[in-house]
Amino acid sequence: MTPKIVRQIAELREEIAAYRRGNPDGQVGFVPTMGYLHEGHASLIRRSAGENGLTVLSIFVNPLQFGPNEDFDRYPKDERRDLAVASSAGANLVFMPSVEEMYPEPMRTKVTVSEVTERLCGASRPGHFDGVATVVSKLFHIVQPDRAYFGLKDAQQVAVIARMTRDLHMPIDIVPCPTVREEDGLALSSRNVYLTPEERKQALVLSQSLAQVPGWIEDGMTEAELAVRIRGRIRSQPLADIDYVEIATYPDLKQPAPDRPLRDSNVPLLVALAVRFGKTRLIDNVLLFPSEVK
Ligand code: AMP
Repeated sequence: MTPKIVRQIAELREEIAAYRRGNPDGQVGFVPTMGYLHEGHASLIRRSAGENGLTVLSIFVNPLQFGPNEDFDRYPKDERRDLAVASSAGANLVFMPSVEEMYPEPMRTKVTVSEVTERLCGASRPGHFDGVATVVSKLFHIVQPDRAYFGLKDAQQVAVIARMTRDLHMPIDIVPCPTVREEDGLALSSRNVYLTPEERKQALVLSQSLAQVPGWIEDGMTEAELAVRIRGRIRSQPLADIDYVEIATYPDLKQPAPDRPLRDSNVPLLVALAVRFGKTRLIDNVLLFPSEVK
């Protein structure tokens, strides 16, 4: 069925309240996105549709989470295609507010999650996670879902939102979902459309270097050795400009013990990369559980 498009907060609240009145045991699933939907987003929507009676999808390019020199103004948009994807994946309500609807006056409230935001994208995009936590908190208050679905492609975002939800006692299950990739391994991203054919080819180095990580850890590498190895692999592509290569415990995102082989870790490890190709910044990661690195 075609989802209903809602642009006003009050109308969205009414639609969800009507669903809850009619379905006292019904559950509401929520998938927040910035649109330009691809199969990664569709996988989140399908998962929600399978687990909840009502699935709310939001499409909102949130100015608060973009830095001054980032791509807010040129973020790709295609409302018609987004609705087709939302519909075939099983969304019931599509919330597409304007910036004025979400921010009718300057915000005087900010949600800041500390520590888990210190490294990785938190370090290279100052203020980014304040923007994310603030808008997701607003959306959570508007939708009041039972479950919310987030992709592990943005693993730090999952850690930040899960922590915010716990810290603020929000009664919402945060459901992490696996990264969906192109057949050749490139993680799907709305930003992939920016890549030139040559950049697209060289961007494969992200997933290819991450695919080697379990073997390198098995060989007994420490954190520093692994980072050097990955950097070397990425630098083999002349158009790749490394923003960061980081290894962190998950979900706390602390530095692992520097002198110990990573295979001895008894907590999950996140190996995360951000690499620029021209104006396009891509991220990817692999999350490894202790049983996978021993
Ligand atoms: P975005 O529209 O980029 O803000 O992403 C919205 C949601 O989709 C976030 O929870 C992302 O982590 C998730 N997502 C984006 N790309 C992928 C992907 N390739 N696989 C799985 N989830 C994804």
